[in-house]
Amino acid sequence: MSIENEIWKTITSARCVLLTSHERVDGDGIGSELALMHMARGAGVECVIINDEAIPVEYEFLPGAEKICKISDGRQDEFDLVVSLDSASLERLRKVKDRLPKGVKIINIDHHISNTQYGDINWVGHEASSTGEIIFNLAQANGIAITPEIATCLYTAIITDTGRFCYSNTSSHTHLAAAELVRCGASPSEISRQIYRAERSNVLRLRQLALATLELSADGQIACIDVAAEMHRQTGTKYQDTHDFVDMPKSIKGVEVALLFREIAEDGKTRVSMRSEGRIDMNTLAQKFGGGGHKRAAGCTIDGSIEHAHKCILPVVEKLLETQRQNEKEQ
Ligand code: 5GP
Ligand code: MN
Repeated sequence: MSIENEIWKTITSARCVLLTSHERVDGDGIGSELALMHMARGAGVECVIINDEAIPVEYEFLPGAEKICKISDGRQDEFDLVVSLDSASLERLRKVKDRLPKGVKIINIDHHISNTQYGDINWVGHEASSTGEIIFNLAQANGIAITPEIATCLYTAIITDTGRFCYSNTSSHTHLAAAELVRCGASPSEISRQIYRAERSNVLRLRQLALATLELSADGQIACIDVAAEMHRQTGTKYQDTHDFVDMPKSIKGVEVALLFREIAEDGKTRVSMRSEGRIDMNTLAQKFGGGGHKRAAGCTIDGSIEHAHKCILPVVEKLLETQRQNEKEQ
């Protein structure tokens, strides 16, 4: 049996499924969870989505978003299956990991190369732009009707993880999937308006503060910006408001590696987002610091201040760039 059929058969044989995704869940995680919830409910299977935290406001328009629960809601359902979406490891489920029902099968559906294959059934499609694209394949392979609600959720998953079809993970299949989703009722203009043209003025002020920290090094090949907790206090914003801030240093001509350092005030840690134009492997870099991700986009968490995180990471990136330069010279 194909993996697509095996997974759908397992889901439709369950009574009540727990759907979840990684900590600080993004458009791909939320879109995939909601799409699969609508698909499973259509087949008469009950689903509950539980994430580590609340979803960012820009995704609240998604059909079914109001049904998404947080771990702190303390739901006590009797689950007989878990489906984890877009999460490279069990650790990335954060608090949800400790609340997983015992002795229940886990289906792991993801597209990160760093995926640890932690499920009883694993479908890790490295070539897929997003987990949303894999869920689209699941629907196609099983002849599941794509309603406008499902189409909206999957289209959102795909556009957010491909940076609106700009990143290198965008393939012809990604575009074909998106086209089919539009045919099934997803509205590109409405979805883009909700996600990209609804910035609040205080978030724009936060951008201004973050951009003022811009630093370039290694002859303009490395660009980094910082977001300190104090900036959130000044502007009345939250950590989630900065999910695409790494695009600012990345947009500079000649930049090979863009880094975003975000202070997490509550636990004295710094979240680092890493982006590359392709010459340096960000997954390998992030894994050196206990994180992971993809070749061109990865992240990790450093125990300590932003300044400490700079000191840990920048010399490593500089060295990797230098080694790469030597290698390219020799070839
Ligand atoms: P972001 O910088 O947007 O938080 O993450 C970029 C990519 O790297 C995403 O695909 C995300 O799932 C992955 N990623 C970010 N942080 C971590 C981490 O700490 N561990 C792992 N395994 N992947 C991460
Ligand atoms: Mn993803």
